[in-house]
Parts: sequence; structure tokens; C-alpha cells
Amino acid sequence: PRVREIMDRRVISITEDEDIRVAAKKLLKGETNHLPVVDASGLLVGIVTTYDVSKAVVSDGRFRRVKDIMTRNVIRTTPDEPVDIAAQKLEQNNISALPVVDAGNRVVGILSAIDLGKLLPGRR
Ligand code: SAM
Repeated sequence: PRVREIMDRRVISITEDEDIRVAAKKLLKGETNHLPVVDASGLLVGIVTTYDVSKAVVSDGRFRRVKDIMTRNVIRTTPDEPVDIAAQKLEQNNISALPVVDAGNRVVGILSAIDLGKLLPGRR
């Protein structure tokens, strides 16, 4: 199977100039732990997670904006990538989600470890 068959198309993203509290609010809704960071055209420029926001909180207010805490070197996947390759990326990098981008680097979905569970028997 390919990533497109199990990815989540309802991506909740954020822009890099937003306050980290906006990121915290989006994460607190509980639908995801990973927010792809996009520019004004929807192109992927980073990722921010509950881990990053928590770290910012314990850093005594030194970081205010998403761009101060996001990871810029985003490990990503594409709709056509085989699911087992995507799973290897998660495992090798100790992460739990990959933004899914099209050929123009536009975010079209997100693939999390939970989505991989959809491939287990009886889970659909
Ligand atoms: N295992 C935990 C997790 O899955 O988030 C914590 C370790 S993980 C290395 C935490 C860091 O990974 C965060 O700083 C986050 O921004 C980063 N991260 C998460 N997903 C990423 C991805 N697809 N590409 C690059 N960095 C990512």
C-alpha cells in the first residue's frame, strides 16, 4: 500500500509567525500532536509538536513564536511513497508523524503512527 491510502487529509497546520500559545491551543484540541508549519502559500517550512511547545514552556518564556521552536529540517513523505518506507522513516528518526507533501512541497496530508494501524487486520 501507498501513503495516500492511509494518510489523514484533515491536516491542522500553523504559520511560523503565530504565537506559540496558538500552537498550544490547536494541540490541546486533542486531534493531533503534530502541526505542520506552512508559509502563506501552504508550502511546508517546518513542524511543531507538543514536545516542542512543552520544551518552550520550561525555557522560561525565551521563545514566543512558532518559528523560534519549530524543527526546520522536516522528514516528509509523499502520497505515492510505499507505506513501509514511511514507517522506516518514523522508526529511524524516532518521530511519530510525517507531513505528506505533493511535488510542489504543498502539504496535502499527515501520516502518523496511528494511521499505520489502519493496515492491521480488522481495523477498517
Ligand atoms: N518521540 C517523540 C516524538 O515522536 O515526538 C519525541 C522525540 S522527537 C525526536 C521530537 C522532535 O522531533 C521535536 O522537536 C519535533 O519537532 C521533531 N519532529 C517530529 N516530527 C518530525 C518530522 N516529521 N520531521 C522532523 N522533525 C520532526
